[in-house]
Amino acid sequence: MIICKTKQALQKVLQSQNNPISIGFVPTMGALHNGHLALIDASKKAGNYTVSSIFVNPTQFNNKEDFEKYPISIEADINLLIQHQCDVLFLPTVAEMYPDGPQIPHHYPLDYLEQILEGEYRPGHFQGVCYIVEQLLKLVNPTHLYMGSKDYQQCMVIQFLLQYNQQLSNIQLHIEPTVREANGLAMSSRNRRLSIENFNKAATLFQTLVFIKQNIGQYSLDALINMAKTKLIEGGFEKVDYISIADAHTLKPIEQFNPQQPAIVLAAAFLQNVRLIDNLPLN
Ligand code: AMP
Repeated sequence: MIICKTKQALQKVLQSQNNPISIGFVPTMGALHNGHLALIDASKKAGNYTVSSIFVNPTQFNNKEDFEKYPISIEADINLLIQHQCDVLFLPTVAEMYPDGPQIPHHYPLDYLEQILEGEYRPGHFQGVCYIVEQLLKLVNPTHLYMGSKDYQQCMVIQFLLQYNQQLSNIQLHIEPTVREANGLAMSSRNRRLSIENFNKAATLFQTLVFIKQNIGQYSLDALINMAKTKLIEGGFEKVDYISIADAHTLKPIEQFNPQQPAIVLAAAFLQNVRLIDNLPLN
């Protein structure tokens, strides 16, 4: 695996490929787990020359503590990427990606998409995501982009970005299923901050989503959401940011469940001061 720490080095490596190649790109913030590696595997399986990036992007953190405590394990990450036959790792510094300091020079018109759920509770988060992903895509110029449905709203934001910037419109976005721990908890780099006891408790988040899916026809949606919130608090979560039962295409909350119309439940809650998110399609 070739490791590039600068934009220039990365572009040199990509340009040195003689034949026109199909490039698969997997952007990450590191502290890699099987969810990330499934994206690398999907890209490799499709025969792509596979580029991954590890960059903890400061402009997408609205919470200073979350940024400062974000887990970092570069050596282990490099070994995992080598094991999974990743071809190139782009590992830039903050100064490399933000020579003028970590700020976003323009605004992306995400409108409703950033006024709800993650956008509502993490102001500015998706602006930072759009900016860094746009920079990375312009550099790597991939044919295929691989992302995880664990970050469902983020996938919708990136789908918007690919349409918004004409230069990126040929990139095909592949959304891969959420990889889970044996107890159902969605794999996440932030899970590393949980004690063993809370790692076990955290499975309540997924169990609560399953509870909603299993009982969707039995109660009103409001009643179901209230029951779900109680379950999380009784399960040890300190705070619930949201539980939303929404249209899977628009993320607008639905008033009534119709099995013919794709719906999804999305949730974000805090355990041990760690913010966890998850979602589950309902149809
Ligand atoms: P992150 O490093 O958290 O920014 O995630 C990098 C990519 O990995 C994003 O596309 C995430 O959606 C994806 N990802 C994170 N966790 C999982 C998971 N448990 N299953 C599948 N994909 C994931």
